Amino acid sequence: MINRRKLLKSITALPFVGSFVGIQELSAQNSVTKTVGTALERDFFKELGLRTFINAAGTYTSMTGCLMPKEVTDAIGYGATEYVNLDDLQDKVGERIAELLSCEYATVTSGCFGAMSIAMAGVLCGNDPKKVKQLPNTEGWANEVIIQEGHQIGYAQALTNVGAKVVLVKTAKEMEKAINKKTAMMWFLNANTENGEVKWEEFVAIAKKHNIPTFIDCAADVPPVSNLFRFTEMGFDMVGFSGGKGLRGPQSAGLLLGKRKYIKAARMHTPPRGETIGRGMKVNKEEVLGMLVALELYLNKDHDKEWKLWEDQIELISNSALAVEGVRTEIHVPKHANHVPSLRIRWDENKVKITADEARRQLREGHPSIQTVGNKTTIGITTWMMTPGQERIVAKRVHEILKSAT
Ligand SMILES: *Cc1c(COP(=O)(O)O)cnc(C)c1O
Repeated sequence: MINRRKLLKSITALPFVGSFVGIQELSAQNSVTKTVGTALERDFFKELGLRTFINAAGTYTSMTGCLMPKEVTDAIGYGATEYVNLDDLQDKVGERIAELLSCEYATVTSGCFGAMSIAMAGVLCGNDPKKVKQLPNTEGWANEVIIQEGHQIGYAQALTNVGAKVVLVKTAKEMEKAINKKTAMMWFLNANTENGEVKWEEFVAIAKKHNIPTFIDCAADVPPVSNLFRFTEMGFDMVGFSGGKGLRGPQSAGLLLGKRKYIKAARMHTPPRGETIGRGMKVNKEEVLGMLVALELYLNKDHDKEWKLWEDQIELISNSALAVEGVRTEIHVPKHANHVPSLRIRWDENKVKITADEARRQLREGHPSIQTVGNKTTIGITTWMMTPGQERIVAKRVHEILKSAT
């Protein structure tokens, strides 16, 4: 096979006559490409020496998030065949998403992290192009973002990356006291709602009283589908979702929903504009379309039926584990974020003589490979990121591994 890199290098290095030869070589390369097989004929991961696995863990970036439905990959494939103006595409898709989600405006972002960064950048700079160029240098500006202590997680770096300074508070009283001329935004982490004293409505009310824009991180907060509407309706100015978690869109995409003026300001930082902090957070047409279609599919799906499927799958795996003496299971649903039927398996190590780490290693390294979560004493399983049917394989393997340790 002709080495494409070498070929391109030789073309750029050659003068006119040489480049003519190069072009001929390139078309030869094209015909070679045809003979090496289409995507459908090639097992790329195998070719690369990578093992694929059953995802019994959940939506993890390290595990490449989620699988996209065919309608979504078709939209991505369609997008790759034509040129359009990037800003026009984002404008139109933003309007369409806003209509679907009954909010003022929307834009497709590079994940929820990207949504947070450009939203924060937009709030910091407004519509001032001079300020846009200056990020992350925000010295002397209103650059503080208020966060409840219980909501402080690593992802808040999306805010500080663009030049915001975090101010931590505990109570509503502290929150009001922390608001001053330097306050730019207030940030709420839905996943940690229970770890903060101030809940949604009160948070929004305090911010509104002082005219401070609010952002809620809802990255992993579908299901339930109602969350796509709930927080814009409640009065949060900006809401961020991951595209490649429950929505099953591109893993590198996300949604920023909310007030038009803030989303317009956020867009000042995104490609095609180059002298911006968000230039590296590019979302191209393929992902924009993929995200739109993933959202449409998500809104149209039978959520009750899907929930019942997950419950049945979890119950099947649970029963299979319970058939081994000494094993206990617990079925639970996280209240906020990753709100899906989930299973914890633990056992009496006097009866089942294997550690949780070792059992998880055997699941991971067996055939097929199965990824789970857990800690020193438990295996954690969800089924929402699996392909239906795989729950039977997981149930069988869990049983086999635990049984063989008795
Ligand atoms: C996943 C996640 C993010 C990051 O979202 P991406 O879409 O991966 O950029 C941010 N916040 C929370 C709470 C998350 O769970």
